[in-house]
Amino acid sequence: MPVAMKRIASAALAFAANPIPIDPSGWPERFPAKDHCSRCGLCETTYVKNVEDACAFLGPGMGRIDDLEVKVHGRGRNLNDMAWSDDATGSADEGRFGVLHRPIMLAKGVETEAQWTGVVTGIAVSMLDSNMVDAVVCIAGGDDWSQPEPILARTISDVLRGRGVKPALAPSLRVLDEIKADPSVRRLLFCGVGCAVQAFRSIEDELGLEETYVLGTNCADNSPTPHAARNFLSKGVGVDEGTVKGYEFMQDFKVHVKTEDGYEKKPYFCLPGEIAQDAIATSCLACFDYTNALADVVVGYMGAPLEGATRMDEAYQTLTIRNDRGASMVTAAEDAGRLNIGDVAGGTGSHEKIAMATVLADSIVLGMTGGEVKEEGMPRLIGEVMAFIIGRVGPKGINFARYSIDYHLLRNYLHVLDAWGDKRANASLPKYATEIVEKYLSTDDKLVELKETIRSRH
Ligand code: SF4
Ligand code: SF4
Repeated sequence: MPVAMKRIASAALAFAANPIPIDPSGWPERFPAKDHCSRCGLCETTYVKNVEDACAFLGPGMGRIDDLEVKVHGRGRNLNDMAWSDDATGSADEGRFGVLHRPIMLAKGVETEAQWTGVVTGIAVSMLDSNMVDAVVCIAGGDDWSQPEPILARTISDVLRGRGVKPALAPSLRVLDEIKADPSVRRLLFCGVGCAVQAFRSIEDELGLEETYVLGTNCADNSPTPHAARNFLSKGVGVDEGTVKGYEFMQDFKVHVKTEDGYEKKPYFCLPGEIAQDAIATSCLACFDYTNALADVVVGYMGAPLEGATRMDEAYQTLTIRNDRGASMVTAAEDAGRLNIGDVAGGTGSHEKIAMATVLADSIVLGMTGGEVKEEGMPRLIGEVMAFIIGRVGPKGINFARYSIDYHLLRNYLHVLDAWGDKRANASLPKYATEIVEKYLSTDDKLVELKETIRSRH
């Protein structure tokens, strides 16, 4: 073997034996997925050695979800159960929402300091309190939004540090080496968003734990940094970001912002067109796992109807249980009186036309396809009228979630096509996402035009 080859081979062996975590100050340039790195934390540990197989944005990326579903849940989702408006029953379909152990339910927690009603906190606290787990990986938010920090929580008060808004990408997996080195952690609850859960599922066997549970949240369009989130709130929504306790895009087509002084709502349509570019992390434009397919239990809000509640901290959330482990996690919280489960989550209204209209008006799509991105949003009064009308006639409950999933998925498909070209883009879509994209391509010429415009630029 030539000398240079020998050196490369021995460097590779040395790295495998003693991998060097990447310094977070080098994010994103020094991280393998570069701009598409969602800063899940894996590369900030010695598990960086697994990055090529674990990262949701390298190689086939989220296309690995199909195989991982079988590994984690014992089966893949039923792709024949894919609801469209003309045959949607209202309750969640497996094709779009992932493996379902039972129908998606509505749920409320009993926590008063949470961003919502504390369903995630209630499950995590109950599992720790009932000795189901030795520790919980969660993100400590901090009131000042400075740095969302992952922690290995061992007490209820530690877990309660994770309440409230998480304004930006957070490196949940940064504590992997701490877990591995601590013999007192044998049973673990990992809390995280889809991209972090995918990386965790890919390396969990190496942690040598007796039992792992995963509690996921739905996630779309995260901010790259706390600074970008603050900027969105001050420049986009027009609130004093220093007072914000939580914010979300809700079913009434308004951004809801909970502040120290009150509660603000602003119609989506009134947001400046250019605000999305900086407010959304590039990784989130390549994400096809809004519903967190690989978690045992998923807590979300997008499929829960807003009727009867005007604020996020009064509203129901959705609870998705994917397997037996997930069912035992939920039982722990119910038994402890920290979780109230309501009806099966249902929905009304068709979603495809409005999903496609949102794609066509999306500033990121317009930016990719040479369209005009409007600096200003609609005048407030017109935006309020639009939100009122669409809120009345548009999709609600689970059908609103179908709208949101399809819109994000189509926009993100166009993004990966633009960023990575046909071959890699197609590989990075899980099968369910490919089916949804193909359905829209077969029924909407405008999507075909957008696709061809992007391809013609490569
Ligand atoms: Fe590493 Fe995670 Fe970034 Fe992928 S997303 S490059 S695994 S830190
Ligand atoms: Fe990760 Fe997707 Fe959430 Fe972005 S939208 S933080 S890529 S799960």
